[in-house]
Amino acid sequence: MASGQAEHDSSTTQAAAAQAQSRDGAAAPRLPPPESAPGEDDGLGVRFGVAAAVTREVARPFARKSGDPLYRPLKVFTSDPAASRMEAAVAQINVPYEPLAPGPVGSFFKVSSDDPQQNVRYGAADLNDSCVLMAGGYAPSPSEPRFHQQMVYAVCSSVYAVFRGALGRHVAWGFRRADDPARLELRPFAFKGANAWYDKEEGALCFGYDVAPLRSVGKRTLPGGYVFTCLSHDIIAHEVTHALLDGLRAHFSSPTGPDVAAFHEGFADMVAIFQRLSYRELVKTALRKARGRLDQAPLLTDLAHQLGHALELEAALRSALSKEPPDGYDPDAEPHQLGQVLLCAVFEAYLVVFGRKAAPFLRLASNGTGICPPGDLPADLVDLLAHAASALAGHFQSLVIRAIDYCPPVNVTFGEFLRALVTADYDLVPDDPWGYREALIDAFARRDIYPRHVPTLAEDALLWRPPRRAMPPLAGLAAAHLMFDGDVAAGASPAELTRQARALGEFATRSQHLHEFGLVSQGEAAALGGTADLPMVESVRSARRAGPDGQIACDLVAEITQRVTIRPTPGEPGYTLVGGATVILDPKGEIRYLISKSAAGSERLQRRRDFMQSAQGRQFWQVDGAAYAEKTSLYAALHLPAGTPAVMGAAT
Ligand SMILES: [Zn+2]
Repeated sequence: MASGQAEHDSSTTQAAAAQAQSRDGAAAPRLPPPESAPGEDDGLGVRFGVAAAVTREVARPFARKSGDPLYRPLKVFTSDPAASRMEAAVAQINVPYEPLAPGPVGSFFKVSSDDPQQNVRYGAADLNDSCVLMAGGYAPSPSEPRFHQQMVYAVCSSVYAVFRGALGRHVAWGFRRADDPARLELRPFAFKGANAWYDKEEGALCFGYDVAPLRSVGKRTLPGGYVFTCLSHDIIAHEVTHALLDGLRAHFSSPTGPDVAAFHEGFADMVAIFQRLSYRELVKTALRKARGRLDQAPLLTDLAHQLGHALELEAALRSALSKEPPDGYDPDAEPHQLGQVLLCAVFEAYLVVFGRKAAPFLRLASNGTGICPPGDLPADLVDLLAHAASALAGHFQSLVIRAIDYCPPVNVTFGEFLRALVTADYDLVPDDPWGYREALIDAFARRDIYPRHVPTLAEDALLWRPPRRAMPPLAGLAAAHLMFDGDVAAGASPAELTRQARALGEFATRSQHLHEFGLVSQGEAAALGGTADLPMVESVRSARRAGPDGQIACDLVAEITQRVTIRPTPGEPGYTLVGGATVILDPKGEIRYLISKSAAGSERLQRRRDFMQSAQGRQFWQVDGAAYAEKTSLYAALHLPAGTPAVMGAAT
């Protein structure tokens, strides 16, 4: 049976294979990052600073030596403990091998076994124990705490490998904890409550657990028994994506517009759902049941089944499928609901492309009609469809992650994410034989998601542009001048990164370039009724990406931002806003794309004030003295405290 096979036939995602087989340089000890440089003076006065994040320590995977295994096979729930084993609820996945201390504690993650609710510390999962190794890890069980620890480690490691593969480099975390900055802490028993969240201050993913309602809440969930969010595949993948996105775009943690919090939510759901679609046995089982119709396979399209039932929603927490007509873009919607609009748009594009890829197989199996006769589909057909669905999910997952490099550094909107998707895909796959980009543009338009400042929705109009005025190449950032610390993916030494950041800062803050980079002069800030901080170079990252046909693209991606503080006026509290640009350079140092967002402009100021006074904005902002201040961190605001009445979107 499928479930039996699933337990013995390990599933290796493409990203896990890439990470396991890569030859990284040895993990050299890194010096602690220097404090933020006070400002850079090149003889023309102090014009910019280099943020401490530029030299933030990046964890490196274990350097595999000859004879080391490629993978560590570990069992996980593909959905949650309430799913049936006959529906491939358990998969054995191949996690890139690394030596682990009990916990487990590896290069990127350390798992805590503390349970403050019960006031106990469970035995740490020792995945190197010979009995555990022979069994392929701990057996899935909601009553074995060491399995909980294994599950969060395995799913987080798999998602991390996907990010690394898509971006072509290692990913730094964005949290503020100073000790052990390379490892995100995973707390599977963090608190009482059917909820989970990313704690940016402590650098931890906190998973709660709670007692299920006393009445029956769906199959295989004991009324009054425990429901663990750390055993939900989707919730783990969703939460670690919040943390990874925070490492890539620190300013997206500040809800400066109606789309920012919703983007975090929708993006985390996208990564989670495409991750689930990488489990081939699960996809085969679901497609067999749905007779090849992905849009009729809730096993694949629903998120967090058990939690949804435990919250008495009578359904999964969220679904990637749209109703007809689909919900349109509504800036006043609650962030999880608005995020679902984004999720559904991307998933609809995925379904459209899957339909194109599946059509030849269905025609072959149906004498050309495309409609299969009643009864079970032939096993070979199910195999082919499952292979196509999983491979395509991998492409879409990689694309949405790669698109983050093409987003502006601050205040992202859904329309800008569409432009980022189109440009990121065009950069790697210019000919687009399956129409990915057209499917994405259509799906966004069906939901009234439109980018600003584009003349049409044609593909070429949506591509990001080089600077409007001709600029010379940044010679200091040409590939010939870049020094890598062993491997392109590993980045450079702190001294070299600082040199690169200074080269960008010096260039962007020349008076003739300021506006192109979304920066303002002190005089312009004064005219807006405010003051401007020094522009800060926030990141400089090299990326080496491989396309589906084996093509390689190397780029340098950097961010520069500037904070402008608007002073309060009578009846109007003050506030800060951030402008700046994402810069993508080719190996010669030419600017290929300049994705800027100016802090100036009365329209942006007005939109910002409107947002902070809106229903959604008031969830995040309050007037503190004479100025607007964030109430709490975005992740805390999206997570309601335990005991809050459950509503759709309250969790995760
Ligand atoms: Zn979330």
